[in-house]
Order: sequence, then structure tokens, then C-alpha cells
Amino acid sequence: MASLKNLVKLQSRLCLRDTSKVICSFSTSARDDAKKDYKLVVIGGGTGGFAVTSKFAKKLGKGQIAVVEPNEEHYYQSMFTLVGGGLKTLEQAHRPTGSLLPDGVDWIKDSVAEFDAQNNFIVTQKGDKVRYDFLVIAMGIQLNYEKIKGALDALKHDPMVCSNYRPPFVSKTFEAIKNFKEGNAIFTLPNTPIKCAGAPQKIMYLADYHFRAMGKRHNANIYYRTSLPFMFTVKKYADALFEVAKNRGIDVAFRRCLIEVKHESKEAIFEDLENGNIETLKYAMLHLVPPMSCPDVLTKHKDIVDETGWVDVNKDTLQHKKYPNIFALGDCTNLPTSKTAAAVSSQSRVLQRNLNALLDGKPMKAVYDGYTSCPLITTKGKVIMAEFGFDQEPLETFPINQAKERRFMYHLKKDFMPHLYWKGLVKGHWNGPKYLRRILHLGMSK
Ligand SMILES: Cc1cc2nc3c(=O)[nH]c(=O)nc-3n(C[C@H](O)[C@H](O)[C@H](O)COP(=O)(O)OP(=O)(O)OC[C@H]3O[C@@H](n4cnc5c(N)ncnc54)[C@H](O)[C@@H]3O)c2cc1C
Repeated sequence: MASLKNLVKLQSRLCLRDTSKVICSFSTSARDDAKKDYKLVVIGGGTGGFAVTSKFAKKLGKGQIAVVEPNEEHYYQSMFTLVGGGLKTLEQAHRPTGSLLPDGVDWIKDSVAEFDAQNNFIVTQKGDKVRYDFLVIAMGIQLNYEKIKGALDALKHDPMVCSNYRPPFVSKTFEAIKNFKEGNAIFTLPNTPIKCAGAPQKIMYLADYHFRAMGKRHNANIYYRTSLPFMFTVKKYADALFEVAKNRGIDVAFRRCLIEVKHESKEAIFEDLENGNIETLKYAMLHLVPPMSCPDVLTKHKDIVDETGWVDVNKDTLQHKKYPNIFALGDCTNLPTSKTAAAVSSQSRVLQRNLNALLDGKPMKAVYDGYTSCPLITTKGKVIMAEFGFDQEPLETFPINQAKERRFMYHLKKDFMPHLYWKGLVKGHWNGPKYLRRILHLGMSK
């Protein structure tokens, strides 16, 4: 009779697809067999994880890199706004995770449960220990819907409550817009850092567009309730957006945080963050955005996060402040810039150059400028293209006023950027528009 060890070995062989791509996780008794050693381990197979993995796959070679990612599907989340707004389908927004994996890279289909940064290994949910020489953390941001009382119940039971931030809920958004008849349509932004801080507004402008197209706008009171004290962090775009909201007849209130949803009575309850007063609004439609945080599995490791609870990296080099063989990028970091895929594109290049330098024993020279971007859809066919850096000053690619609503920018967002994402960013080929910006601005200054 085959011993348990042999059975595990057989199972192990069956689980390895072509170039050792998929590493299955095993039961506790098989932990030692599953133990693995890698030159580079990347945690998270999202935007940042694949951007970095693709860049190092060739250089490090077969079997030297592993990506730890539990999900079978990879979502292009920037498209969720268009899905919620009825301009794309959810089907168009995802690919199987395995199809994005570069040749020779192992996929550990599991979640990280523990980090031991002092001894250079991580432990997965199923108990496998994975050792690394270098680690890249790209675990994104955690959605905390449960922190708004009644929100998950409302999302589950009320077809008119939706949220573009998670796949099952984003599918509800366009249905809610189409089925809207009359009353209050409310859009919220929570009191925490979030990914794509423009997204809560973009879907509101698309709802406004559809209500008008359906001849229902006169029946709708559109409310924007944001925890922020402004429309957007960069004044140039904040001013432009305030004008857009005013012209569309949207009721905007700042420093208002959604704290409870009562779906039986169709009420949304807000706290005024300035004075603690409570505002209760009836809703006919509610698009809510959850509070967010760095994933719990990271925040429990106080040596990895800073005092505010985000992965503690040097903002210039993206190297961890305490552990030189750890780098991080994207939404889970404390990089003082807006959390977007656009930011990840620039970060991935800086990380690549600096980690390469470290691997080759050379000094790290690449410096991140904080580049981030947010294509602010203001209606079907128009976008304000916000692009800025660390100092909240515009860092625009095109030598035109990007705070103006433009059709060209809309097509860039809707038709061109999906290709840039699937063929460029997650394949390791798109590093942000830095050089394009230089060329275009040089052309103008001549
Ligand atoms: C509605 C919406 C609209 C947006 N619009 C835009 C836009 O217009 N432009 C723009 O640039 N950006 C936009 N974004 C933001 C953009 O999608 C994110 O900023 C970007 O995906 C961040 O990349 P990341 O790698 O940090 O995180 P993610 O891409 O979220 O990847 C994190 C990965 O880590 C994995 N992970 C988590 N925990 C673990 C664990 N314990 N073990 C292993 N793996 C784990 C997750 O499964 C996930 O695959 C939008 C996002 C949303 C939701």
C-alpha cells in the first residue's frame, strides 16, 4: 500500500501544470513536502502583483518566483465604474488568474496567513511554509462593509442598494439605475482612505446621465454625501467637479459619513463629522462605498506596518523601512498618494529598477514621484483626467487643461485603457506616462 508520503508526492505531481505553474496547498500532514524556497515571492495576484511578477519572470528564470493568490479570477477593477454605469459588462472586466501568469512562475493558490520577516518566510492559510530571498507585498486594500451597520443586509436584500467596489454588488448598480422611478438617489464616500477616491462620484454622474436619458431626472433628488471636506484632494480638479455637481443640480454635503442603512424603512443615516449631528435621508436608490483598511493579516504584524496601519515603505524607493529584502506597492502601502492602478504602473517600474539593483549588488537609484491618476467620468462621453504627484500638484501628461471635461479623455478611459491594462500593465510593459509626458511637454515648449 502506498504510504501517505508517496500519495502526497503523487498528488503534488498531478497538481503541477506545465511549467510548474499551479502549486496546490496540502493538508497539514503534507506541510513538509509543500515547503518551498524561492528567490522572489510576490504576495497578491492583483494589479501590482502581476505587474511586478511579469517584470521579473524572465530575469529570475523558471521556478525562482512564486505568486501567492487565492482567487481564480483577476478583476480589472477600474472597469467597475463602467460596469455599474452600464457601459461595459462584468464579463469584460475579468480574466482567469492562471491566464496572466508568466511562464516559469509558480502560482501558490492560497492566502498568506502569517509573515515571519525576520526569518524570510510566510505561512499560508493551509499551513504551507514558503521561504524567500526577496518579498514583494501587493495585497491591495480590505473592504469593510460590516463597519456600516445594516449595509451587508441591505446589499443582500434590497435591489436598490448597490456598490461598485465588489463584483456581486457592482452587478446591482446598473439594474438599480434602470429601475429607478422617483425619490432620492444617494451616493456616499466613507471616512477612510479608499482605492480610486473619484469612483464614488463617477457613478453618480453616470446615474445622472441615465436618469436624464430615461426622462426621469426631474423625479430624482441626487445627493452626494462625502466624508471628505472637498470634492477631490487636488484643488484644480475639486473646483471643476464642484461646478459639474452644481450644474447637474446635485445636493453636495461634505464631512458626512454613512453609519447605518435601514433597508426595511429605506433610510440612510449619516453622521456629521464636524459636530456629531445625525442626518437621516430616505432613499429610493443608494450607492454605498465601504470603509477600507490595510488587510488584517498585515496590520497584525506591527513590524510590517506603520502606526497608521499601512505597509511601511520608503516613499522614494518602495523598499520596506525595516526589512531591506521586502518591497511593497499599491493600495496596501503607506505611500502618500492616491490609491489607483495608475499609481501602481509608475510604482512597478521604480520597484523593478531598485530590486534589480539590489539583486545585482548595485545602489538603488530609482525614485517614485507619487504619480497617480483618476479619470473622472462626468457623464457618458466626458472625462476630467486628474493626474498628480505627492505634493497634490497636477502632473498632467497632455499639454492641455485636463480639468476640462473632454470626449478624447473619455475614449482613453473607456476604449484604450482596458488594452493598456491587459496587454501592458499586468504583463509588466506599462510603466506610467512619465516619458510620454516629457516628450509631449518638450514638444510644446519648442
Ligand atoms: C470601483 C473602482 C474603480 C476604480 N477606478 C480606477 C481608475 O479609474 N483608475 C485607476 O487607476 N484605478 C482605479 N481603481 C483602483 C485600482 O483598481 C486599484 O488601486 C489597484 O487594483 C491596486 O492594485 P493592488 O495590486 O494594490 O491591489 P489589487 O489589484 O486589489 O490586488 C490585491 C490582490 O491581493 C490579493 N490578496 C489579498 N489578501 C491576500 C492574502 N492574504 N494572501 C494572498 N493574496 C491576497 C487579492 O486577492 C488581490 O488579488 C478602481 C477601483 C475600484 C474598486
